Amino acid sequence: MAMDGRTCVVTGSARGIGRGIAQHLGERGANVVINYRSSEEAALEAVDAIETAGGSAVTARADVADRDDVEAMRSVCHDAFGPIDVLVNNAGITADTQFTDMTREEWDRVMDVNLGGMFNCTQTFYDDIWNADEGRLINISSVVGKQGNFGQANYAAAKSGMFGFTRTIALELAQGGSTANCVAPGFTRTDMLEGVPETVLDRIIAGIPLARLADVEDVAAVVRFLASEDSSYVTGEVIDVNGGMDL
Ligand code: NAP
Repeated sequence: MAMDGRTCVVTGSARGIGRGIAQHLGERGANVVINYRSSEEAALEAVDAIETAGGSAVTARADVADRDDVEAMRSVCHDAFGPIDVLVNNAGITADTQFTDMTREEWDRVMDVNLGGMFNCTQTFYDDIWNADEGRLINISSVVGKQGNFGQANYAAAKSGMFGFTRTIALELAQGGSTANCVAPGFTRTDMLEGVPETVLDRIIAGIPLARLADVEDVAAVVRFLASEDSSYVTGEVIDVNGGMDL
């Protein structure tokens, strides 16, 4: 199978896009580390689902914004599967409000998780990725990082920050033969969209050439390609998975 024997950490993978990625990789032969911060029960369900499909998975609790937690997660991964091949920085949060009302706390919280978490996890697993045969770093950004979005100055800044980070790490990792890429999903049906009224979603869909929101599978399939050995010569890229939103 495409991912046979490759070990992958997917942050924030008890639910949403991360869960879809973890399941997709696990069903294709990867050993998967399901990271969660608070959704323990869902994380255990994710492990069950992967094992039922014939794969291997373990849970690892860690707040990605906390470096000690992330280092403890590395120990869990190493004890279960040894060094990893693939890190997917997926964990992310929003704290939306129009910029004039945005507090410094809302700014910092989004930066701490979305960018600080990426920093902590990438640095903690950097040696594994460097030493892996075809090591992979995959960062889940957003169409909002490219286009901006009303009420999301903090989130948009964090998500576009991922682009520059990824291109730089791609240059640094290239010397060891590993790659780094971003995936930028469009609006995807998960809990993150829960508070968005259906009328607003309808307006968003009206602006999408493929005329629907993304499913987690749409994103997971692209991540699987980037995580596999099929993408050896792709690095420093931002792959849009947005139904043609910027056409
Ligand atoms: P979601 O349903 O809200 O799930 C967020 C996930 O991130 C949860 O698994 C959560 O874990 C985890 N998480 C949050 N803070 C964390 C922390 N400090 N440490 C560890 N895990 C943490 O979101 P989603 O829609 O799946 O989004 C996943 C990624 O895709 C995010 O980076 C998001 O920005 C990006 N994205 C989403 C969309 C969209 O429309 N949904 C579009 C583009 C990009 P717990 O439940 O355990 O707390």
